[in-house]
Amino acid sequence: MGIPLASEARLACLHDRLPSVTTLCSHSSLQIFHGARAEGLPTLGISVGKPPRFYDAFPRGRPDRFVSVPRVKDLSGAARTLRDAGAILVPHGSFVEYLGSEAFGALDVPVFGNRAVLGWESDRRKEREWLDSAGVPMPKRYDDASEVDGPAIVKYYGAKGGKGFFLAKNRESLADFKPTGPYVIQEYVLGTRYYMHFFYSPLSDRGYRVGHGSLELLGMDRRDEANIDELYKMGAQEELLKAGIRPTFVVTGNVPVILRESLLEKAFDVAARIVERSIELFGGMVGPFCVEGIMTEELEFKVFEISTRIVAGTNLFIGGSPYSDLVEPGLSTGRRIAKEILRARSEGRLAEVLS
Ligand code: AMP
Repeated sequence: MGIPLASEARLACLHDRLPSVTTLCSHSSLQIFHGARAEGLPTLGISVGKPPRFYDAFPRGRPDRFVSVPRVKDLSGAARTLRDAGAILVPHGSFVEYLGSEAFGALDVPVFGNRAVLGWESDRRKEREWLDSAGVPMPKRYDDASEVDGPAIVKYYGAKGGKGFFLAKNRESLADFKPTGPYVIQEYVLGTRYYMHFFYSPLSDRGYRVGHGSLELLGMDRRDEANIDELYKMGAQEELLKAGIRPTFVVTGNVPVILRESLLEKAFDVAARIVERSIELFGGMVGPFCVEGIMTEELEFKVFEISTRIVAGTNLFIGGSPYSDLVEPGLSTGRRIAKEILRARSEGRLAEVLS
């Protein structure tokens, strides 16, 4: 038996009805709606203003109904409508970023997964405390610029799409950094980036057992990041700087990747530690999450970030991935979410997967 995350009162609006899988129309919403539809669940799209017209081009991803709000920040005013519709909110990157993790946490509507995790993810220092105490290898952190002893990266808090990040070859070049918000300084790790899409089910009693449930790997991608990923075409960072261009990490797309099979052991070990520690710290992280790190030439995997909800890279695998196909053919992360809701409902365990 897992840990109850939601009170009876919170779940009262879901009694005696099929829940509507609900999310903000952006990011990975087409996949989330497609997965719910495939499992026979009704869907509800939250649109800012008029529903996006391009949804009409994707009949299998379009939600059954829309609720329109003037701004994402106005969502709490629609809480009653959402509860009456039997909504279960599915958080994704844009949803949490536009609403803010605190406002998301305060919404009086059932949420898929443990909403407490959003506060741990959005604060880079808290996230580090979690991963460090789980024994997960991470890039070195410098508390002060004077400690920097090699290439470094300066990063702002939250999923800002890598905007405004600063790369420094050494301590001296950090002097050019002018902060515009809360930031951290990390060792710049050289290696290959992997973004691993995991799913933790507290309900499952088979497979790769972790905590009260089990862990699945559903896909993997690498992010295309402008303009840093094109840097090699100009030779070196200096060439960009000479042209007055600062290297940035703004995500523009995703490409599918797979890991050497022998490295999967390491990937699962890291993900399992993260889940186990989350159970001790705040009752557990439920559902999809992404472990984002760099494999060095020594085959050491250093985690620079985790996303504690569905990531946009999973959109590559709406029809299944080389990993999820080994779990169940055609299984996307969106579909996996719908399956978890249905299983929890039929076993009377919604409180363990909703908050
Ligand atoms: P983040 O906001 O932490 O996901 O970082 C955005 C991007 O910056 C990542 O996708 C990586 O390309 C890059 N990055 C972040 N941290 C590091 C690091 N410690 N070493 C090298 N690259 C990094």
